[in-house]
Amino acid sequence: MALKLFNTLSRSVQAFTPLDPAGKRVGMYCCGPTVYDFAHIGNWRTFVFADLVRRTLEFSGYEVKHVMNITDVEDKIIQRVRENQTTLREFTGKFEAAFLEDLKALGCLEPHVKPRATEHIAEIIGLIEKLVARGVAYKAADGSVYFSIDKYRGCGCQYGQLLKLNFDEMRTGERVSADEYEKESVADFALWKARVPEDGAVFWPSPFGEGRPGWHIECSAMSIKALGETFDLHLGGEDLKFPHHEDEIAQSEGATGKPFVKFWLHGAHLLVESKKMSKRLGNYFTLRDLVAKGFTGREVRYLLLSAYYRETFNFTLDGLAGAKTALARIDECVAKVRELAGTTTATPASGLVDAFKSALEEDLNISAAWAAVFEWVRETNKRIAENTLSVPEAAAALAAWERVDAVLGIGKKSEAEVPAEIAALAEARVAAKKAKDFKRADTIRDELKAKGWVIEDTPKGIKLKKI
Ligand code: AMP
Ligand code: ZN
Repeated sequence: MALKLFNTLSRSVQAFTPLDPAGKRVGMYCCGPTVYDFAHIGNWRTFVFADLVRRTLEFSGYEVKHVMNITDVEDKIIQRVRENQTTLREFTGKFEAAFLEDLKALGCLEPHVKPRATEHIAEIIGLIEKLVARGVAYKAADGSVYFSIDKYRGCGCQYGQLLKLNFDEMRTGERVSADEYEKESVADFALWKARVPEDGAVFWPSPFGEGRPGWHIECSAMSIKALGETFDLHLGGEDLKFPHHEDEIAQSEGATGKPFVKFWLHGAHLLVESKKMSKRLGNYFTLRDLVAKGFTGREVRYLLLSAYYRETFNFTLDGLAGAKTALARIDECVAKVRELAGTTTATPASGLVDAFKSALEEDLNISAAWAAVFEWVRETNKRIAENTLSVPEAAAALAAWERVDAVLGIGKKSEAEVPAEIAALAEARVAAKKAKDFKRADTIRDELKAKGWVIEDTPKGIKLKKI
């Protein structure tokens, strides 16, 4: 069976095949954070979804190049820089660093390329120049450069590929300079915004005059630079379909004359009491808020991964408490399997891996994937309790879990991953005991304890546990 994904372009579930003639390499771009504040867990739902897509592709044998940009110049950022009387880099650097810390805490794999918009001004200008040369962009009286929807459509191109737009009801020729607008106000949008006093020191020279890029052109320029003029997958939250992604398509196809992206994937929103979690509504939690309440990134990841990506998901603190319980069930089972397997290794047992794989291949049916995991936990616990799981079977079960967890990314670190310093101390204690130097052995045990580790002597040897 092959991986199937819902493509917003075709509004249907399609078999995924990469552009690479060898069928191996996949280019994937996910719109990254706008670094004007800490990301809230609604944002994180989208980034964890992107991580799931990447890991699923890798699980299916593809070699993924994952690109996630950092939006470090746009309307909201400039407003905050002005309010905080700081510099652009100082302001965005703080939130970019926090974002990358949270990304790690949530167990997301780091994207291979993380381009910053401010470091791609030359590419952005180059793209705008192409659009001007092709006659689909123009400089307006306010000094800014706009994308002409009429001219673009006049060349036989389609504006409104992700969303059906009714042009008969629209007033054409109008312009919008803000980065964010509703589909009711579809209009020529800004590619290059002429410098105004409110921008302070945030401006660059360009052939069109001093100014700064619009938000949409940033993603076109960065994705084309990293992945080429046509690439496989483009992701984001569903609110980005319009205008952001529609404008990205128009700018990219308008400049290159080639199809921009093969598969568009959009994640549904995270809700709080049936409303979109957003900064504007003030109904949001950051990861840091939840950590302060005693939850971990791993628990938040589990909760965000518990729902099908195309369905909205209601966030509650009770749901997060449930994540703690569910993870404890998995951890307990995996720990028992690991203990039984000892140092024996095996190839993954097929049952769990096959059920998990076929669930994910059906447009990332995560509910069926979790059902396979919990069925495995139940069955494994039963066999351990009955004493019918042999050591080689435990090793194969452990290998299967590790294969599955390469996609879920929620597994607890195995005891084999104790820091080198701790492992060295434990070995020194074993040596001291062998030499009957019990005083030294006790001193080392106390030292380990002071560093947060307990050492247990078991019939199979020593065991290290984090306190
Ligand atoms: P931003 O930093 O505002 O550019 O948003 C980053 C990502 O988070 C985008 O892909 C948005 O579509 C997504 N996003 C924003 N709010 C939510 C939400 N409540 N649930 C899921 N994704 C969201
Ligand atoms: Zn984008």
